[in-house]
Amino acid sequence: MPHRPYIVGNWKMNGTRAMLAEARAIDRAAGRYPDVQVGLAPPFTLVQAIASEAQAIGTGGQDCHPEVKGAHTGDVAAAMLADAGADFVIVGHSERRRDHGEGDALIKAKAEAALASTLGVIVCVGETLDERDAGQAEAVVQAQVAASLPSAALAEEAGMARVAVAYEPVWAIGTGRVAAVDDVITMHRAIRATLIAWSAELGDKVRILYGGSVNADNARDLLAAEGVGGALVGGASLTAESFLAIVAAA
Ligand code: PGA
Repeated sequence: MPHRPYIVGNWKMNGTRAMLAEARAIDRAAGRYPDVQVGLAPPFTLVQAIASEAQAIGTGGQDCHPEVKGAHTGDVAAAMLADAGADFVIVGHSERRRDHGEGDALIKAKAEAALASTLGVIVCVGETLDERDAGQAEAVVQAQVAASLPSAALAEEAGMARVAVAYEPVWAIGTGRVAAVDDVITMHRAIRATLIAWSAELGDKVRILYGGSVNADNARDLLAAEGVGGALVGGASLTAESFLAIVAAA
């Protein structure tokens, strides 16, 4: 394993200030696991509050706009997230691909905007159930990786710690239906091959996280699987108790 496992919570559109207590509890406890890198991506409205207090965890946004500023009502630039104290941003989550019609080229531009600011970036990819059933899972995901990663030159300049990929099969997100460990290994291998073709310098080092119904019960097996560098956790990141059980499993 080239670096510490990276466990990232994605609160999605959940969380008001009442949930700051959970974030504080996660941060306090994360300090007891120095061998695990922990990140938390709350809604934009909580980024500054969490980032300003966080000691042990990184704070992230769940999306950013590819441009630095301008007439884009409702959008948030990567540099604005960084200014609010964020350390990283998630781009290309399947819910954004689905709800906002985001495609690989836009996601690549967002990832590059993140690197042009000070943020790290987690680029999400994953196949639908139809694509898996059609035997296309590897090809679909490899194409997504190739087209949605930032340019290798930018990433090489930024360094390996700034880029991660999250493999999240769409059918496993929020469904309780976790991918089989063997399939996760196969998919992470396919992603690794694409990463190596992308950058000889970073391709074997960029972390690949698994996401999709990760919980305290399945985390240990998933995180021990070959090539799995961490987890992107949705539902189970919403309470400190369930999220910390995953951190402990790493
Ligand atoms: P889930 O979500 O853990 O609730 O399946 C994962 C994600 O969408 O990142």
